Amino acid sequence: MKLAIISDIHGNLEALSSVSASIEGQDVDRIVFVGDAVGYGADPVGVIEMVRSMADVAVVGNHDYVACGKEEPSYFNVYASRAIMWTRNRLSAADTDYLRSLDVMVLVGDLTIVHATPLNPLDWDYLYTVEQAAVNYEAFATGLCFIGHSHVPGVFCMDGEGRVSIGDTDSLRLEEGCRYIVNVGSVGQPRDRDPRSCYVIYDTEKRSVDFLRVEYDVPAAQEKIMRAGLPPQLATRLAIGV
Ligand code: ZN
Repeated sequence: MKLAIISDIHGNLEALSSVSASIEGQDVDRIVFVGDAVGYGADPVGVIEMVRSMADVAVVGNHDYVACGKEEPSYFNVYASRAIMWTRNRLSAADTDYLRSLDVMVLVGDLTIVHATPLNPLDWDYLYTVEQAAVNYEAFATGLCFIGHSHVPGVFCMDGEGRVSIGDTDSLRLEEGCRYIVNVGSVGQPRDRDPRSCYVIYDTEKRSVDFLRVEYDVPAAQEKIMRAGLPPQLATRLAIGV
């Protein structure tokens, strides 16, 4: 089975359209969405519509959670906060209901899917270090856990002895007896200084996890953000991938 795993689209329809075209060329069996359809970008409604038709499995992200009114943006920075209030005003009741219906954490076979961390998913913590990864391994039982949230692709491996290390994001091959936490990066607002959209293809037979980068029409997405009156910083960052 071949899976495409996408995350952190953040209202960027140009990015999602390019990634969708790329996925079509990959002959995948299932598409998994790891959260944050909305927030920051100017096309929340178009992105929700597309995610609903594409994704076979989906979890909620922290921006989705605030957009649908389950939480207030008290911990958001000023740009994120302004964008999420703008987003709330654009969603239909059906859009909001869809976001409200999403689970925080989903288990499918040997996969755990959660936006932030398996340990306390609703605390929306970031997972950057081996130490943070080590405590999170205790919170899920599957061989593989896909996360997003930081917008930075990354891999943690835990060997049979419980030692956790940083893994390879170029060509990851899953080893027998090891367990993995994979951050799939971001479709709509990459922050690893590569402005191209990022997503993952997981092949269960080859036991391979590949990170793909896709170019999209950045100027078009930027222009929509400016025209919507959203903070200009949300447009400029797309060109540099931060
Ligand atoms: Zn995000």
